Amino acid sequence: MRLQDLDTTDRRSARLTSTERITPDESPEEVRELVLEIPGAAFEASPGQSIGIIAPGEVAFGQAEHLRLYSVADIPERTSEGATRLRICVRRCDYIDPYNGERYRGIASNYLCDLTVGDRVTLTGPFGDLFHIPDDPEAALILIGAGTGIAPFRAFLMHLYRSQPRFGGEVKLFHGGRTGLEMLYRNDVRDDFAQFGDIATFEAIEAVSERPHWDGEIDWTKAIGSRGEELREWVLRPHTYIYLAGLESIRDRLDSAFVKLFGSSETWTRRKAELVAGGRWVEWLY
Ligand SMILES: Cc1cc2nc3c(=O)[nH]c(=O)nc-3n(C[C@H](O)[C@H](O)[C@H](O)COP(=O)(O)OP(=O)(O)OC[C@H]3O[C@@H](n4cnc5c(N)ncnc54)[C@H](O)[C@@H]3O)c2cc1C
Repeated sequence: MRLQDLDTTDRRSARLTSTERITPDESPEEVRELVLEIPGAAFEASPGQSIGIIAPGEVAFGQAEHLRLYSVADIPERTSEGATRLRICVRRCDYIDPYNGERYRGIASNYLCDLTVGDRVTLTGPFGDLFHIPDDPEAALILIGAGTGIAPFRAFLMHLYRSQPRFGGEVKLFHGGRTGLEMLYRNDVRDDFAQFGDIATFEAIEAVSERPHWDGEIDWTKAIGSRGEELREWVLRPHTYIYLAGLESIRDRLDSAFVKLFGSSETWTRRKAELVAGGRWVEWLY
């Protein structure tokens, strides 16, 4: 999905009704959950879709608008006033210019993180629709979300356990952050996944970095390896679905982890190709 190909002509004005930091103050990462209300006709968006936020662009560079996508982090609700209430989570991004070493602020993420309650935002979409609840009520699901990649799975699980009582399959959620502080919706500020703790068929598994203070990456090999033979057996079953969301860099790391699990690159490449062809390996990376 290329941003420039998206049809953004249909726009809605939303009002920010809540903004909450969901990483602890001690964490160097600022991630906020924003609640937006869109008045008027229902804004339909399903878990697994994202909305387009149109932030003011850098006019000096001939860019009046700056479009970026954010995953829906909950099932949209209708308020008693008839507005649609949407939840997104946004990581405040900045970048070091590789040429001059200067730090720059990401445009849309800083715009969103700096908004205050009552501010208006222009949004468009929704876009994409990748993560579906399998028709088979006994299907097994492996959900892998790192950083803000957890947002679509928060929405997905809410939908699965609140409105799909027929589904009886097992779910494993691999949930990654460099440290426990960055484990979104599973830290001291917010522990939303605790509500699924009593579901015998649900398990959340943490993936963290071995060297968090040295900018170490999440150790996916350790997290995947921690479920070893059980996970291999799941991946070989005919009705297992693997859904993946987050930054692009997760793809290679997971491939390495699964190669280790399957003993050889050829075996894993073949199995993954079968899963992809059957629509049972679905990734939404950015
Ligand atoms: C389907 C999808 C779903 C997404 N869901 C979420 C979500 O739920 N939550 C979330 O937080 N994000 C999400 N994102 C990412 C989000 O869309 C934005 O990409 C992110 O917030 C950064 O946007 P920005 O405008 O702040 O940064 P930008 O200003 O657009 O900068 C982003 C990129 O530009 C480059 N860049 C910018 N400035 C510099 C510079 N000065 N020097 C060098 N390089 C520079 C960097 O390569 C960087 O990757 C999603 C993306 C996609 C495609």
